[in-house]
Parts: sequence; C-alpha cells; structure tokens
Amino acid sequence: MATNTDKTVLVVNCGSSSVKFAIVNPVDGRVFVSGIAEALTLDDARISWAFDGEAKTEQMLGSGADHARAIDFVVDTILAGHKDLLDSLVAVGHRIVSGGDLYSQPTLVDDSVEAGIEKCIPFAPLHNPAHLQGIRAARKVFPGIPHVCVFDTAFHQTMPEYAFRFAIPEKYYTENRIRRYGAHGTSHYYVAGEVCKEMGADPDNFNVITCHLGNGASISAVKNGKCIDTSMGLTPLDGLMMGTRSGSIDPSVIFFLCDNMGLTAQEVCKILNKESGLLGISGRTSDFRGITEGREQGDEKCALAFDMFCYRLAKFIASYYVPLGRVDAIVFTGGIGENSYRMRRRVMELLAPFGIKLDVEKNEAALVYKGGRGVISAPDSSCYVTVIPTNEELIIARLASEFAK
Ligand code: ADP
Repeated sequence: MATNTDKTVLVVNCGSSSVKFAIVNPVDGRVFVSGIAEALTLDDARISWAFDGEAKTEQMLGSGADHARAIDFVVDTILAGHKDLLDSLVAVGHRIVSGGDLYSQPTLVDDSVEAGIEKCIPFAPLHNPAHLQGIRAARKVFPGIPHVCVFDTAFHQTMPEYAFRFAIPEKYYTENRIRRYGAHGTSHYYVAGEVCKEMGADPDNFNVITCHLGNGASISAVKNGKCIDTSMGLTPLDGLMMGTRSGSIDPSVIFFLCDNMGLTAQEVCKILNKESGLLGISGRTSDFRGITEGREQGDEKCALAFDMFCYRLAKFIASYYVPLGRVDAIVFTGGIGENSYRMRRRVMELLAPFGIKLDVEKNEAALVYKGGRGVISAPDSSCYVTVIPTNEELIIARLASEFAK
C-alpha cells in the first residue's frame, strides 16, 4: 500500500446528500482508496469504496446516517486496517462550492473560515451546509493535520468588475453581494495550466478558453493564468445549456411562469435547475451519451438538444474573443468535453469563421474520445484546440499539500 515515503492527502467532497472521498498522492496522482457515501440522511444511506486495484465494496450506513457518520465510517471502518495510509496523510483538502467573494485562494481552515463558509450559504444553499458538516467531522477525526478549503469560486475572483457585475441597481451588489461568482474554478485552473505546459507556452503571455462540460457546464476566458470572465453567475444555473439546467435565459420567462401560469418561485427554480437543459429539450435524458444515441436513431428532440448545446457553446466561445483579444488555445474537459468527438466537431465547424480548423482524424482517434488527451486542431488552425481530462481531486490534493509541514 502506501510506503513510508508517500505523503498523501484525503480529499473530501460533500454534496447535499453525498460524500466523495479519496486518498491521493499529490505528486504522482496515485489514488490509494476512493469512494462515495450516498443517500445520506435517507433510509438507504450507503457507502461504497475501492482500494487501488481492488474490487468495490458496498455497505449500508444505517437509516438517517449523515455526513459526519460517513466520515467516521471512512476512518473507523474503511481505513481501520490501513495504518500505513492513515500515517501517510499530511493534509485534508475540502472542496467548497462557494466562497463568495471572501476567498480567492485555497485557505487553511479555522473557526473564522467555517464562519465565512456559513456566510456564503445563500450562494450554495445545498452544498455549503454539507461542506461545513464534512469539515467539522473531519477536523474532529484528524485534528493534527492541516485542513484546507479549495473553493470552486476562488479562481474566478480575478474577474474585472465589468465582467462580474450584473446590470441591476448597485445596492443589490453592495448590500446583498449579488454578482457573478462562477463555478468549476478548480477544473478551469487545472486545464488552463496543463494546456500552457502542453504547448510549452509562456504562462505570462497566454490566452485560453477553457470549456468544462459535464452534467454542469461552464466556460472561462483565462488570460496569463487569471480568469477574466466565466459563464456561471450568482449560482451554477447561468451560462451554457446543461444536463438539467437551462443556462442563461430571458428572466421574463420566470415572471411569465409565475404571473401567467401561477407557479411559485420555488417551482420555477426546480424547473430551471432540474427539468430543463438537455432533459427538458429531449424529453428523454439529461445524459449526453443518451442524447447522441437518440440523435443517431433519428429522434428529432435529441437532435435539437444536441444542436442547441453545440450552438450555444460555440456562441459563448466566440464571445470570449472579446475579453481575450487573441486566443491561443481552446480546451475541452469534463465528461462531455473529453468524450464527445461529435460535439467537438460541430462546435469547431461553427467556429470556422475564426480560422479554427479541426483535424478530423485526431478528433475521432481513440485517444481523445476514450478519456485520453491530445491536440485536435489542424496545424494551420488559428488556435490550438485540445482535450485534457480534468482531475479536480488531484489539484485539490496538490493545493492542500502545500499547507503541510
Ligand atoms: P459531472 O458534472 O457530474 O462530474 P461528468 O463530467 O462525469 O459529470 O460528465 C457527465 C456527462 O458526460 C454526461 O452527460 C455523460 O453522458 C457525458 N459522457 C460521458 N461519456 C460520454 C461519451 N462517450 N460520449 C458522450 N458523452 C459522454
């Protein structure tokens, strides 16, 4: 298992009813054990995990088990016979969805940071309370090592005010902190750095558009390593079309549904977050693979969902030529970005007026449609286009390990 030279980080990612965890070597990325507790607080709360190279184990956690119980289980049961792993831990990295505009860097946890995360609950009402439970439980079981919060919003804190403000009366910003915060920052940061290395470019003179396309999807304009615009807004509902989220929408649709259809704000919130996007248009699935299959079988609604997803993404990419001026690279990542060569082909075709040219064969090569990485643009393309699998756990582990003694 872990040798005495391994220094590892426990990465904890608490969702509203789940805890994902992994013990990672931040240097080489080796994952010693990883797992997920699901259906927390419900009757069928359960946990599954796998040690490196071994089969998955699953166990019920007991009715109503919460995040703290899940973390206790990881330490008391899963890691019980693995003193080597426990001894190798040098830090715990906590993924935090929203740090609002309070945190622009990975931050060592103390009571004031817990209070800060609590203050940001209005921006991530499902996630931040769960993160707090995870932090409190983990601090109890690992009091002797640094706990580090890595905020999804931190990377976007460098946006200029004209990019992050909404055009609404100032008091809603100054008094209520209503503004664009962005999301998936850790992933955008990681792939922006990776493509720069891949090209051997000068990090201080390098402009890239990063497209994180998973169930949630967002896009960022990154100039010299700093984010200068991003598509997600106050919450992850804004921007691109997603699995079940509408993305950007005329706000009048909301008033129309409330005033003319008699829906409550909460009902509309559910429609826009859970019933829209690929699912809403296809009427069939939120899963991009299912959309692609449906389209190939001649399902017109799936074809429309595919067309809308690609069209809206291409328009967003095109719009980021404005903040960046010159675009050196475009990166695709996330489950859809890494795997769907059809989506990439369509988006690149739509961007042909910008001089972007795809290498059709490279785009379809097994390497870049089975979770691999590689350049997909033609040599005479105006900008380098590449696929880089994201690895949020590794980057959280790396950032957290920097706080270890
Ligand atoms: P999350 O945002 O939940 O982390 P992922 O990054 O894992 O999600 O992305 C999930 C999405 O990736 C789903 O829509 C899934 O259908 C899509 N996806 C995964 N593999 C493929 C594939 N081979 N072709 C097209 N889409 C894929």
